[in-house]
Amino acid sequence: MQTNFSFAQRQDQDIRSSEQILRSCVHCGFCTATCPTYLETGDELDGPRGRIYLIKEMLETGGAPSPKTVRHLDRCLSCLSCMTTCPSSVNYMHLIDHGRAHIEANFERPWFDRLIRRLLTWALPVPEKFAWLMKAGGLMRPFIRMFRQVLPAPLRAAVNLIPRETAAFAPLKKGTTFPAEGERKHRIALIPGCVQQVLRPQINEATIRFLTRHGCEVVIAGDTCCGSLTHHMGKTDLAHQAARDHVNAVMEVHNAGELNAVIVNASGCGTTVKDYSFMLRGDDQVAADADFVSSLAVDISEFAAELDLAPPADKLPNLRVAYQSACSLQHGQKVHSLPIQLLRKAGFAVHDIPDAHLCCGSAGTYNILQSDMAQKLRTNKLTSIESVKPDVVATGNIGCLTQLAEGTQAPVVHTVELLDWATGGPAPIELSTT
Ligand code: SF4
Ligand code: SF4
Repeated sequence: MQTNFSFAQRQDQDIRSSEQILRSCVHCGFCTATCPTYLETGDELDGPRGRIYLIKEMLETGGAPSPKTVRHLDRCLSCLSCMTTCPSSVNYMHLIDHGRAHIEANFERPWFDRLIRRLLTWALPVPEKFAWLMKAGGLMRPFIRMFRQVLPAPLRAAVNLIPRETAAFAPLKKGTTFPAEGERKHRIALIPGCVQQVLRPQINEATIRFLTRHGCEVVIAGDTCCGSLTHHMGKTDLAHQAARDHVNAVMEVHNAGELNAVIVNASGCGTTVKDYSFMLRGDDQVAADADFVSSLAVDISEFAAELDLAPPADKLPNLRVAYQSACSLQHGQKVHSLPIQLLRKAGFAVHDIPDAHLCCGSAGTYNILQSDMAQKLRTNKLTSIESVKPDVVATGNIGCLTQLAEGTQAPVVHTVELLDWATGGPAPIELSTT
């Protein structure tokens, strides 16, 4: 694709990077066939190729984008399905990230939109604040139901996402160390996530049990958002600050004793941590450390695949598992079949679901900010899941888990909860009577 950036514009490293990406697109349009939003609306501007043109025009022109451009770019899930399909290896992720940052810096959103984004930015990255907000939202649920017709869609969507029951919130603090059982074979930094700690603390508990059982010493590195949430809202300063904090936290752990891996068990966060190297490339103070942290970052399933798994538990019931492949894991990190193989090895009957490449509509804060599209995608995904009649649904991302949990009879759990159970841990609470 031809580009027309001026000499002055090219002095900016983000423009230089985006120009290279734009030039690699041959506008063949293969990507449109696997874009969930294009499949829903049929509008070229709701597909990757159309969005690439919009971003090119927006960046070349500079200044405030049109509301139409913002609408179509906001509707992008950042699911990265288009990157898996693209034969020219166009890095759409870096392009849309730049586009979102440009919008945030140059476009004045309507006041309610600004308000809700500020609230999300204030509450979600800090588990203590989010736990408080969730409690308040839960108490307000009956009133919100009563006035649902007059309430703005993001508020309704946010309250609907609050799980009916959650385990007690016990925040994991930075620096806490969990010793290996038996001989120490690995030293691990665990990034425990922000909303995950509140919505389903069992995921980190299972991860720590699973790792320590397999000879890992686990140290908690970071106890707030890794920057993923704010990054996807285009709030670059906040995202970079969170990324720097996490890089420093991991380096502190590493300097106290060599690390073998940085494990992330929420794949949305994992995609961002693996990208710290790019995000912080212009920051001389932390660029080298960011590079190092990204090189050590792995999803829990990638690390588990390298372990000699403890033998399957004797009394594991014969369960049908539907595997929901989170977009950030399959498209963002190119990890799709590994968790399925691991679950099978652990003794579960795993069934791939139809249209597994399409997003469930969760996508960070997308299911709050773009709730209509998110609902449609959720309904499609639940139909696919129900078609394999599962006893349990496994996924590697808290976002998908929350998005799907209220819509299916089958419990939705994290892959590591099943791996922990199969190798000697307790059954996930929803399966404990199975
Ligand atoms: S498939 Fe790749 S090269 Fe083709 S239009 Fe899409 S992004 Fe561009
Ligand atoms: S990231 Fe997902 S929603 Fe966005 S253009 Fe690519 S395929 Fe479509």
